[in-house]
Order: sequence, then C-alpha cells, then structure tokens
Amino acid sequence: LRAMLAKILADITPGDLKYSFFTNSGTESVEAALKLAKMYSDRTTFISTTRSFHGKSLGSLSGTAKGMFRKPFLPLIPGFRHVPFGDIDMMRKTFETCALVGEDVAAVLLEPIQGEGGIILPPENYLKEVRALCDEYDAILIFDEVQTGMGRTGEMFASELYDVVPDILCLAKAFGGGVMPAGAVVAKEKVFSSFFDNPFMHTTTFGGNPLACAAAIATINVLIEEQLPNRAKELGEYFLAGLKKAAEKHGDKVLEIRGQGLMIGIEFHQDKIGYALSKGMFDEGILVAGTLVNSKTIRIEPPLTISAEEVDQVISTFEKVLNELNHQ
Ligand SMILES: *Cc1c(COP(=O)(O)O)cnc(C)c1O
Repeated sequence: LRAMLAKILADITPGDLKYSFFTNSGTESVEAALKLAKMYSDRTTFISTTRSFHGKSLGSLSGTAKGMFRKPFLPLIPGFRHVPFGDIDMMRKTFETCALVGEDVAAVLLEPIQGEGGIILPPENYLKEVRALCDEYDAILIFDEVQTGMGRTGEMFASELYDVVPDILCLAKAFGGGVMPAGAVVAKEKVFSSFFDNPFMHTTTFGGNPLACAAAIATINVLIEEQLPNRAKELGEYFLAGLKKAAEKHGDKVLEIRGQGLMIGIEFHQDKIGYALSKGMFDEGILVAGTLVNSKTIRIEPPLTISAEEVDQVISTFEKVLNELNHQ
C-alpha cells in the first residue's frame, strides 16, 4: 500500500514531484522537508514568512511566525529568517543579503495561501516570483500544503492554482480523510536522492503504515471520483458571494471576506466582534474556527462534501447573527 500510494502521489502531484516519505502529521511533514533541504543543499539558512503556520515541533516551529508560540522555546533552529508574506522585494533583499554574508539560502518555506494566519491569498505573481528567486540562488522551494492540499482550494493542490511547482510539497490534515493521522512529503528526484545513500537518515515507525496508506488512497479516490476539487471551486465561489452579500450592510463590523475554494476567511474590525459572531453561529449549530490565537478573522473550512443547502444555511445564519449583533 505504501508503494501504491507513493506511485499515486507521483502521478497526481504537479510537475516532476516524484518521491514520497510518509509521516503521521503536518509538523512531521515539515520536519522531513527541512531535513531534506539541509541534506541536499549543505546550507543552513531558511526563509519563512510572517503570519505563517508550519506546526509546533521544534523544527517546524522555527518556521512558524507567531511570537507567542515560539518565545518560551527559543532559541529554535538557527538560520531562520522571516519576511512579510507577499512582499517580494523583502524576499529578494533577504536572498541578496544572505548571499553577501555567506549564509546562502537552503530553502524558502511557504504556504501558498496562509491558513492559520487568516486565509491570506498571495499577491498576483508572488509565488512565481519566489520560484524565480529560488532558481536564481539555487535554493529549494518548499510548499506547505498541509491545509491547502487535497482539493480544498479548487484544485487538488494550490500549487496548480498558481502554476508553480515547488521542489518539496508537504501534506497532512485532509490527506488521511480527516480521520487517520497521515501525512506526506513529496520531493523532486534531485532533492530526494540525497537520502538514497542512506535512507535511515530520516525514519519514523508509524509513517506509511498500511492503515494510514489505505485511508490516503481511499481519500484520493473519492476526491477524484466525486470531482471534489471542482466542487470546492464552484461551491466556494457561491459561498463567498453569498457571505459578501449577507455582510453588505455590516461594513461597521465586517472588514473583509476573502477566500479560495472552500477555504474562506471573514475578517472583522475587532476580535470581540468575531468572538460574538462565532458564539452566535455556534448557538445555531454551526462551527467556525478562529485564526492564530483570536477571532478577528474566522475561518470557514467545511468538508468538501457540504451540500448547497447547507451552504445556504450557513449564509443565512451568518446574516441573522450579524443582524442580531446590532441589537446588543
Ligand atoms: C495544521 C498545519 C500544520 C501542522 O499540522 P499538524 O498535523 O497539526 O502537526 C502545518 N502546516 C500548516 C499549513 C497547517 O495548517
């Protein structure tokens, strides 16, 4: 099953992504990606972005941006730098500076669309320009698609939305169908081959176990057979338009509604409005999620099998709760 899943991933991932290593969670996928990048490049500098989330084990936490999560555990892996997400000039300057001081960049670690940071979409061409910088400086591009992967954004992988192929792709969360702990890191041959000499350089006992692989294969089958990525695209557009319309008269509370596929964020002027709204939705039986540590932006990330009727129900409840907030 492990070989079968690896073959399927080589087929469905973009470009020449080819070899997989299986993990049990998102943070482990990121750890494996960081180790691969170090093995391949013999360099130790990583560039990550502000508002990013890559997990909470010590390696991935080095890439995660939230100060509150990191502070008690400093120092983390040396060599990590954070630049503002979406700022290509800062990214370029950081590459230049690192090269000048002899600390060449091993890899850039990025979520194509930031999830925990508040559903932040990349500016036009940003990911392509980061790809070009990585090529120019011979650095590796790691896409953390733990949240965006497996159809949520309207394509199987967000990389495809932006037509950018990373050198390493990290997967987890929905990879096991949302019930099995399962993750993967998929890499191009030139990168993954640094483990060929000694595959024991990075191992895990349970990663790639038969049950997890069966769940991942079944998940991919359902995603493809039921055309769930396309469904996420179409329902996502409908959902986003409906939420925006519902919020039209509430500009005093809602700052922005944005999203891609069934990955939607609602940003409020203050986090206390987000809390009140979340509580109101919860009272009506609808679960939404905060971002980072507050509710200034809340996330709507339903299963890709959600029905149009259920989407309507969320939209009308959102409108109702927004109206009720006026009378408090
Ligand atoms: C959730 C998440 C992780 C961490 O995954 P865990 O399975 O909780 O360790 C890493 N990266 C991104 C983008 C995530 O959304």
